[in-house]
Amino acid sequence: MFTGHALHSFRKQLLGWFSQFKRDLPWRLDKDPYRIWISEIMLQQTRVVAAIPFYERFLTHFPGVATLATAPEQEVLRLWSGLGYYSRARNLQKAARQIVAQHQGVFPNRHEQVLALPGIGPYTAAAILSIAHGQTYAVLDGNVARVISRLGAISGNLRTNQRWQQLQQLADNLLDPRAPGDWNQAMMELGATVCTPRSPQCLLCPVNKSCEARKLGLVRSIPEKRNKRATLGITLAALVLVDKKGTTLLLAPPISPSRSKMHSQIAPLLSRLWHFPTIEVSQDAVKEAKAYLEANLLHGTKIRETLVPLKRVRHSVTHHDITLLPFRLELAALPNIPHSKKFPLTDLSSVPISNLTRKVARSAQG
Ligand code: SF4
Repeated sequence: MFTGHALHSFRKQLLGWFSQFKRDLPWRLDKDPYRIWISEIMLQQTRVVAAIPFYERFLTHFPGVATLATAPEQEVLRLWSGLGYYSRARNLQKAARQIVAQHQGVFPNRHEQVLALPGIGPYTAAAILSIAHGQTYAVLDGNVARVISRLGAISGNLRTNQRWQQLQQLADNLLDPRAPGDWNQAMMELGATVCTPRSPQCLLCPVNKSCEARKLGLVRSIPEKRNKRATLGITLAALVLVDKKGTTLLLAPPISPSRSKMHSQIAPLLSRLWHFPTIEVSQDAVKEAKAYLEANLLHGTKIRETLVPLKRVRHSVTHHDITLLPFRLELAALPNIPHSKKFPLTDLSSVPISNLTRKVARSAQG
C-alpha cells in the first residue's frame, strides 16, 4: 500500500496523532499483559465506555492470574454479569487455570503459547504481545480492516479468507516495528473514534492525505455492507414466583437440557446463568406457563392463584429476537425444587444473571 517515504510519513502522522489525542483508558496505565488481556476480551463485544466499570470491578476482585484461576466460576460470571457473551468469562478462567498449570502463573510471552490459551485468537494475541512486550504482531479486527480497506480503496467482501489474509499482510506491512504496541492501539483508536463505520470524520483524520477511498469519493461504499444474518423470533414465558417476604426463586444454570427440562434452544438465550423458570410458548402463553408450572415446579399441584402478566420484555441475543412474557405469581411459600435457590426479588446482585433475567426482575418489581 505504502512504501518508502509515503510509509514513513504515514506512520509518523498516525503515531503523532495517537500520542496527542489518545483516550485515557484504565488499561493503558501500564503494560501488564494480564490487565491488557482482560481489557481486550471485554472489548471484543462491548463498547469502551460500557466496559470501563466492569473492567475496574473485575480487576479489583481478580487482580492477577492466580486469583482468577482459583475463584469459583459463579463468582467470575457474577462479575461479568451484564456484559453478555459469557463464554468470554468462562474462557478467561480456563485460560488463567492453563497459565497456572503450564506457565507457573505468569502470562506467557511466546506467540504460540498465547494462541494456545482458550478464547485467544490472532487478534488478541497480537494486541497483548505488541502492547505488553513490544513484539511485532499487527492486529486485525473489523475496525482495523475497515481503516485499511478505506486507506487502500479495497472493495468487495472483506471477510473472505483470501481478502482477510491480504488485509493481514497490509496490516503487517504498515506496522511500525519501532513502536508496535502504540501502532496497534493507534490503528484501533483511529477506527473507533475517527474512521467509524457510518460517519467517518475525514476532515479531522490525521491520515486523510494518504486515503485512497477519500480521494476516489468511495468512503461511503467501502467497506461493502455485510449481509446480516436473518433474525429468528422466539416467544418465551418466564415465571416470577414470589412469597410474602418478596423472595423469589431462580433456577441454576442448565447443565443439560434434560435436567432443566428446558428446551435446548432456550438455554443459550439465558446465557447459561441463573434464571427465572422459563419456557418457549406458542399459542396460549398463560395456559402453557401454568401447565409447565404445575407439572415441573409444583409437583402436579394445581394452582388457584392467577398468573399476573407483567410488562413484556424485548431482548436480542445474537440472531434471536426474543419476546419474553413474564408472569408474577404470589405464593404463600415457594416450592422446593432441585437446582434452585431463593433470593430477594429486589436484589439479585449476589448471583450471575443475564441482562434478560435482569429485565424480567425489573419488570416484576413494577
Ligand atoms: Fe477513514 Fe476518512 Fe481517514 Fe480515510 S480519510 S482513513 S475514510 S477517516
